[in-house]
This record gives sequence, structure tokens and C-alpha cells, in this order.
Amino acid sequence: MIFYKTEEEIEKIRESSLLVALTLGEVAKHIRPGVTSLELDKIAEEFIRDNGGAPAFKGHNGFPNTLCVSPNAQVVHGIPSNRPYESGEIVSVDCGVLKNGFYGDSAYTFAIGEVKPEVQKLLDVTKESLYRGIEAAVEGRRLGDVSFAIQEYCESHGFSVVRELVGHGIGKNLHEAPEVPNYGKRGSGPKLREGLVIAIEPMINLGKRNIVHGKDGWTITTSDGLPSAHFEHTIAVRKGKADILSSFKFVENALEENKLKTV
Ligand code: MG
Ligand code: MG
Repeated sequence: MIFYKTEEEIEKIRESSLLVALTLGEVAKHIRPGVTSLELDKIAEEFIRDNGGAPAFKGHNGFPNTLCVSPNAQVVHGIPSNRPYESGEIVSVDCGVLKNGFYGDSAYTFAIGEVKPEVQKLLDVTKESLYRGIEAAVEGRRLGDVSFAIQEYCESHGFSVVRELVGHGIGKNLHEAPEVPNYGKRGSGPKLREGLVIAIEPMINLGKRNIVHGKDGWTITTSDGLPSAHFEHTIAVRKGKADILSSFKFVENALEENKLKTV
């Protein structure tokens, strides 16, 4: 069952999503070779709690940390570790917050130092596919239009779409109906209308689309060992243009600042 949200509820989800966006911005300030994902996790948890939120993932089905950090061939749901990152790696950082009874959810895949051109292209195409999906998330269209937009854009660049993991409705629950696949048929699925709030999150592989489940019970990895990228926004369906409740503004400002510091 889909829970359509009131304007008041959407504003609460916006507040939670903004805290996620700010948290990812804090993480971005510390992204560099030598940093560990456990350090990033600690920064994120403290920032969320200092700002009146609770980490949404910590304890969710037993997940041990605040952030899901998934480097390189890891697709999603990676557990933070004390391994220092090296230049050339990529890492998806996924963050969720619960504040005032509502969830926000967003993810960004970072390049550590210099990455290979084909890996940078994977990041660029995956991020752009998220915005292509969001562009289709307007009243009167169908959920399959969102899925199709993402799939078509990524496959046209030679990348592949993970099938087993999908986006989701979000609100009083971290994961609600409907499922939001990153592949699908135009004109199919439920009709979109105002009040629908969804997390759209393309998970796109450089090589084959197949995945394997890790022995830790969480980590999802590409079966061919090639890199995977993941970007996510929480959005509200509107007439004419979707309302993006999370934001990459703080991440992108921080990445610019990092660049200036290293020049
Ligand atoms: Mg997420
Ligand atoms: Mg999500």
C-alpha cells in the first residue's frame, strides 16, 4: 500500500533529507586518500546526533553502522572498516536519517584522488541517470517512465543496471511501497501523483549487471569484480517538476573546497 503524504509530512521529510545532505557534505570534507570508512562513519553519526536526528541505518535489520560505504566493486550495503582508501578508488556513501518521525535517504559515489577515465564516466553517467529519472517523476506519468529513463540512459553508455536492488517509497518508514526499479517499461506501473515521496537510487555497473551477496550478510558486490556506482535522492512527485528533498549541493561545495586546498 502506498502512503501519500500531506504537505506537512513532505516538509518533515525535507528536513530529514536536508540533514542527510549536510551529513554527506561533512563526509565529503574528509574524503581523501588515507581516510578510513570508520572515520567517515563516526563523523556522520556525530553530525546527525548533534543536529537532532538519529542514524536511520544503524540497527536497521541489525546493520552495525551509520553509513553504508561501498567501495569499488561493492554495489551497496558495505560495512565501514579501518582500511585506508587509496587514490584511484571510488566509494558509494549511503546515508539515512530519522528526524521528527520521518526518514530521509541519499547517496553519493565519491572518487578518491584520481580515478581512471572509464570509472569517472561511470560516476558521471550514474549521477546523470538519477536526474533523468527525477525528470520523469511528475504527476500523470507512470513509475515505469522513471525506471525506463534511468535504464535507457545508462545502457546507452554501455553500462548495466542492477536488477535485484531498487529504490523505494519513504516516509514514516525507511522503505515503503512502491518499489522503484532502475529498469522498466515506459508507460507501465502505478500512476504518479502528488503526495508520492520516493527514493530514486540507480545502482549501475561498469561491467555485467550480476551481483553476489557477501558472507557478512550485507555487502553486495558485482560478480565480475568491476566497479559499481550509486547515487540517490529523496524526491516528492509534483505537477510539472519533481521536488528534490535531498541535495548534493553541500557535497559538491566541499569537493570544490578540497580541490582548491590540494592545488
Ligand atoms: Mg540510501
Ligand atoms: Mg534508499
